[in-house]
Amino acid sequence: MKPETACIHGYKQSPDTSGGIAVPIYQAATFVHPSINNPSEYIYSRVKNPTREAAEQTVAALEGAQEGFGFSSGMAAIATVMELFEPGSHIIATDDLFGGSIRLFTTITKRHGLEFDFIDTNDIPTLKSKIKQNTKAIYIETPTNPMTIVTDIAAVKAAVSGMDILLIVDNTFLSPYFQNPIALGADIVIHSGTKYLGGHSDALAGFAVLNCPALRQRLTHLHTSIGATLSPMDSYLIVRGIKTLAVRLDRAQENALALANWLKAHPRITAVYYTGLPCHPGHEVMKKQARGFGAMMSFETDKPETARNIVERTKIISYAESLGCVNSLITIPVLCTHADVPEEERLLRGINDRLVRFSVGIENVQDLIEDLAQAME
Ligand SMILES: *Cc1c(COP(=O)(O)O)cnc(C)c1O
Repeated sequence: MKPETACIHGYKQSPDTSGGIAVPIYQAATFVHPSINNPSEYIYSRVKNPTREAAEQTVAALEGAQEGFGFSSGMAAIATVMELFEPGSHIIATDDLFGGSIRLFTTITKRHGLEFDFIDTNDIPTLKSKIKQNTKAIYIETPTNPMTIVTDIAAVKAAVSGMDILLIVDNTFLSPYFQNPIALGADIVIHSGTKYLGGHSDALAGFAVLNCPALRQRLTHLHTSIGATLSPMDSYLIVRGIKTLAVRLDRAQENALALANWLKAHPRITAVYYTGLPCHPGHEVMKKQARGFGAMMSFETDKPETARNIVERTKIISYAESLGCVNSLITIPVLCTHADVPEEERLLRGINDRLVRFSVGIENVQDLIEDLAQAME
């Protein structure tokens, strides 16, 4: 099944026999067993729920995975996956990760006895030099947020081949429509379903998908035991959102490329970070490992004041956290998503007070350009 078709037909027919073309919302916590000798397939919704299954099957189908797990948020998915590791384990992670993941790893996960090294995972020699006896996973995001640094997933896989090290990829930024890390060697793929999968910023969701049967068994145990599972209503919204994933992302990407080129030529803009631009250092790797460049970018303004003017004066583009919505959203990372990252570390990575992150939506591109232009006047 091609991705556009999997968006719509990625889940099995629901147990409902009415013929309804939309997946029903099974808003039930518990399910009745027909008899002692004939227990129902569904027992309790923390364990399994038919609406959640539709969402899990769709995301798994899109990622080319056998198994999907739906969580109540992206962070719930990441925190649960981290429980796969025993205290004393060492994990190498991308240094430009989503701020919430950095916060989780450096506070809570660390307290559970896990040790992290944050590096530029694009730098394979450094990655190899960081591998220790207790290294159990490589955790990557590509392209990153907000600097859009691209990691070659297959090259990371090759660097750890033959070792007992899991490769975990957070694929939120590109969505499974544009990139499938399992085909490139990833063992576990994570999504914040809140972003492109849902696409309308009306549901919180997270997913983890994988193929390995032993891992599936362990994650099933953690998913059910910890219980941060995706609710029936939010599962429905995700299934509904994914139906238009392909058309939304095609439009958003088209807008993003036009905006990146427009911004690049604007006198108040000093840098544009978008992987779709041929001058982006990760452009060639993206062409090799992804089917598109997505619709996330960052750009640097001449002065902090310009960045502030943009978020305060745009009328169509909303000043809001999050990304992957049909609406265009804009933030200043140092004030929002990366406020918890120490300043020194932030500046080292180019995250300064002139940097604006832009999640391009599916509005008319000329309207978006005019909105930005008037905000910078
Ligand atoms: C938003 C986000 C998360 C966290 O997901 P929530 O649904 O907000 O909990 C994790 N990773 C990335 C890359 C994200 O953008």
